[in-house]
Order: sequence, then C-alpha cells, then structure tokens
Amino acid sequence: MKDELLRVAGVIDESIVDGPGIRFVIFTQGCPHHCAGCHNPQTHDFDGGEQVPISRLLEDILENPLISGVTLSGGEPFCQPKPLAELAQELKRHGKHVMAYTGYTWEQLRGKQDADIERLLAQCDVLVDGKFIESQKDMLLRFRGSRNQRLIDVQKSLQAEQVVLAGV
Ligand code: SF4
Repeated sequence: MKDELLRVAGVIDESIVDGPGIRFVIFTQGCPHHCAGCHNPQTHDFDGGEQVPISRLLEDILENPLISGVTLSGGEPFCQPKPLAELAQELKRHGKHVMAYTGYTWEQLRGKQDADIERLLAQCDVLVDGKFIESQKDMLLRFRGSRNQRLIDVQKSLQAEQVVLAGV
C-alpha cells in the first residue's frame, strides 16, 4: 500500500450505529456542502483536524478483530479520494465491509469523471448520498439523516450504470 496522509477530524473505534455490524468510523476533515443543520460543523474547515498517515489508521482498524467494517464519514470523504481509495483497497483485501457518506449525489460523483473518485467507489460496498436536508429530516431512517439520501449498493450500481438501492 502506498502510504498517504488523510486529513481527519476524528475517529470512533467501535460503532454500531454507522452501518451494519461493529464498525470503525473515520470522520474526514473538510466539507464544501454547508448543509443547514449539519451535526458536524467542526469538520467543514479544510485546514482543520490533523493529517494522519493511512497506514496508522489501517493498523488501528486491523488490531481490533471485532471490527467487520469501516465507515467513511465527514466532512466530505470524496474531497480526499486518493488516500481513501488506497486505504479502502487495503480494507477490502482484509475482508472489511466499506461504507461511505457523501454530500454529493451519485450522479454528481460519477459526473466528475475523476480517476481517484472512481477508484474509491470501486472499493465501496454501500454509499449514502446527498446533502442533509433539514426539512426532510427523519429520525426513523436507517443510517441516514434525511429522506432525500439514498442507501446505494455501489457494486451493483457500477455494474448496472444506474442507482441500485442497498438492502442493508
Ligand atoms: S455533507 Fe455532511 S458534513 Fe458536510 S455540511 Fe452536509 S451534513 Fe455536514
């Protein structure tokens, strides 16, 4: 794995609310979306947080055998697709489930035609897409904050070249 620096706001070592199973959650630092009612405004500044080598994150994740998956949250993970693609590739090699959040829609991400974004998507199992829209907030939604956001089966969607919803 090529070691890269990732700008991180923080991590949660073990979570059961950020995706299926017991997960390690990485909150990336830096977000361009500024959704009204955002729960993590401290993650917006692209100069905030700290830069962490992905090798250190990988070590922390793999040393806990209870962790079945990793969630890339934000901030906006897709503003740092290069280090995250590298990390996610290694996670998949170790059999971990990878889920990512993004304030972009699936269509916006694909439309960027960015090689690193495509590399990161290729490693993801599930993507939760779209901005948090306060007027569509729904506390009953699984792993999502507002009704516009979709739980996307990334691999099936890449194959079908259209959004296929995930059944997690
Ligand atoms: S995309 Fe997420 S982190 Fe960024 S402003 Fe919206 S809710 Fe906050």
